[in-house]
Amino acid sequence: MVELCLDDVTRRFDDVQGTETAVDDISMTVEDELLVLLGPSGCGKTTTLRMIAGLETVSEGRITIDGRDVTGTPPSDRSIAMVFQDYGLYTMMSVRENMAYGLKHSTDLSEAERNARVEEMAEMFDIGELLDRDVTELSGGQKQRVSLGRAMVREPDVFLLDEPLASLDAKLRAEMRTELQQIQEKLDITTVYVTHDQKEAMTMADRVAVLDDGTLRQLGPPEAVYENPADRFVADFLGNPAMNQLPATTSREDGRYDFHVAVGDRRLRFASIPRGDLPLDDGDPVTVGVRPENLRLNDPATADFEATVSVSEYQGNDNFVHLEIGSRELTAVVPPTVRPSPGDTVPVTVSPDALHLFDADTGGELRRAQDGKRRSETVRY
Ligand code: ADP
Ligand code: MG
Repeated sequence: MVELCLDDVTRRFDDVQGTETAVDDISMTVEDELLVLLGPSGCGKTTTLRMIAGLETVSEGRITIDGRDVTGTPPSDRSIAMVFQDYGLYTMMSVRENMAYGLKHSTDLSEAERNARVEEMAEMFDIGELLDRDVTELSGGQKQRVSLGRAMVREPDVFLLDEPLASLDAKLRAEMRTELQQIQEKLDITTVYVTHDQKEAMTMADRVAVLDDGTLRQLGPPEAVYENPADRFVADFLGNPAMNQLPATTSREDGRYDFHVAVGDRRLRFASIPRGDLPLDDGDPVTVGVRPENLRLNDPATADFEATVSVSEYQGNDNFVHLEIGSRELTAVVPPTVRPSPGDTVPVTVSPDALHLFDADTGGELRRAQDGKRRSETVRY
């Protein structure tokens, strides 16, 4: 049960162009879970991880492990293991020697005890057969297993991974994702996992921390971050295809809010929701958002508007339908049996339960889509 805390942590870099804030006032607590730091390239993920490891100095703020302030502590005194994308194995050594190396230098275990731990961990990562091989003989996937096993065998308090699967091919990546998750759960080590891949984040994380430009935008379980994104950035970053987002104008009707989108010189009523207690007045600008799987096609009785099909992309288990309303574009994800042709006009229904509203200026969330209203409940064919 190890608790890792980041308390208003900031990292600035000074260079010839001035000061850059790579990590801006981030706070979070990670405890007995796999927390994924997710965000686009350059948003500060690696810098955050390196500060936790002690490889990067902290400009402001505090890092604690189980209440112990480690902000200025050298990496070797933190009981942290870190794994990178590029394995970092000692190429002159065998797999066994690589895995035993850290134990030899940081513990008093006898050789027999070291071997026992290495062999147990090697079993877990399914590399038992490779222990006496030279690491240069291994495939990329095998090298990454050795690198993960070498980190885990030390039984660190905190396990840090920086895009460890990024250089593996898609199939291997999916396999390793599942395996790593199982091993992390079994060993129950507080883990911070960095990736820019939302799929990796959604499938592996107990909780996801979404970063943008050095700031923490939202932290929560994958379902919460997906279903109730705190702002437009998070809404856009998670989900493939991305959430449809359009600028709209509010009109207060009897007991309802209608949201109109300008399409050329037309005003299209995009969606309508029961009034509730939103802080919106007639004429207020907002951004409306709806996930592609929450657009229903071909139900004239409930349709909000009509759109023209531009492209229909058959995916096997799904069909991505790209739609146009004037110069606006929308994407719908529909069952594979729904396959309209380019040029078709289709009725489009926006489920009121699935409508997201964001502040037009700040991009902050104004209205959550109703909890639990997922595709299975909102879209029926
Ligand atoms: P990520 O891992 O999310 O891709 P990084 O943490 O590597 O992002 O980088 C965040 C920002 O900090 C980037 O703009 C990067 O250029 C900058 N940065 C990282 N390390 C240094 C450094 N040693 N010196 C100057 N700028 C740096
Ligand atoms: Mg990085």
